[in-house]
Formats: sequence, C-alpha cells, structure tokens
Amino acid sequence: MISIGILDLQGDVSEHFEAIEKALKKLKIDSDVLKVKTVSDIPKCDGLIISGGESTVIGKLMNKTDMRLAIIKQDIPIMGTCAGLVLLATETDYEQPLLGLIDMKVKRNGFGRQKASFEEEIEIFGSKFEGVFIRAPYVEELKDGVVLARLRGKIVALASGKHVATAFHPELTDDTRIHEYFIKEVLKCVE
Ligand code: GLN
Repeated sequence: MISIGILDLQGDVSEHFEAIEKALKKLKIDSDVLKVKTVSDIPKCDGLIISGGESTVIGKLMNKTDMRLAIIKQDIPIMGTCAGLVLLATETDYEQPLLGLIDMKVKRNGFGRQKASFEEEIEIFGSKFEGVFIRAPYVEELKDGVVLARLRGKIVALASGKHVATAFHPELTDDTRIHEYFIKEVLKCVE
C-alpha cells in the first residue's frame, strides 16, 4: 500500500485529489491519498503532488511551515502542475522560494497573464491531450530531464529523474494519463 500526498497550502488541491483517486482506480492500485497540511504529514508520503495556484504564495507558506526543507529531505517523486512546476525549478525569472529539485529555468506567466489563459490540444505520450493553461509558465531551459510535450515550441511537460511537471492543468480535465504516469513513478521508487 502506497501513500500519495497533495500539498494543501494553496491552489486547486481538491481537483488533484479527485484526479489521483480516479487514476489509482484505473490502475487498480491501492493507495492512501492525503492532504498534506503540516510538516508531520511529509514522512507519510511516498509521492507528493504540488498543485496549481500561486507559486510565490505556496513557496512562502512552505518556508513558514518548514515544509520546504522537509520535502527536499524526503526525496520522493513529486508531480508539479503549473505553480507546482515553477516550485520544482532551480531558477525562475522572479525572486521566490523554490524547491530546486529539477535543474531547469522557468519563465513564469510565460504565455501571458490571467486573461491570456486558454485551452489547447498538445501531444503527449504519442497522443492528444487537452491542455488547460492558466497564467502558465514554460520551461526556458531544461538542463536535466526529458521533454514530454511542447506547445508553440516551448517545453510544457517534462520528466526529470523521478519527478514530473506540467505547465498546464491535467487535474482540470478527465484525462488521468499524467497522474497515472506519476503513480507508476511512485511505485518504481517504493519497490
Ligand atoms: N503563474 C502562476 C505562478 O507562477 C501559476 C499559475 C497557475 O498555477 N495556474 O505561480
């Protein structure tokens, strides 16, 4: 039995909760899904999801609650979407607390501000995926990892070691393939 946490400081946490439960069911994997609210929840997790939201706010709260260092120390697979992708980076174009777990440079709001949010089909794992982009970042430079998808030439999904990150929001669609991919990464690490 594994345990997947969803960092619950700010952002669209319940959407990820539903998406990961659906993906687990599809794969017939028995797992606890927990909302990670305090530093004492971190050691319970075999994998952690960091949702979309506001990365500057989540980063500050991670520091305030001592979760930033605890997450780094836990050394588990992390799936970051949108703000979560920003937080996984080693570098962004803005001064903010980061986890620095993926060696990449990220451009925040790379596709424009709130009103520039849009949906567009991307291609990932060899087939189409509905990409929901909300003040989405993109990866300017991936120094260590594999590109999983691009949009308009920009990197919008990637894997790096055991981590996975998307600039869009798979949790806002019914397509659970990226969550399934993440569950498989978690399983590899607990084996
Ligand atoms: N642009 C936001 C940030 O940098 C992310 C937006 C989102 O998660 N939808 O935190």
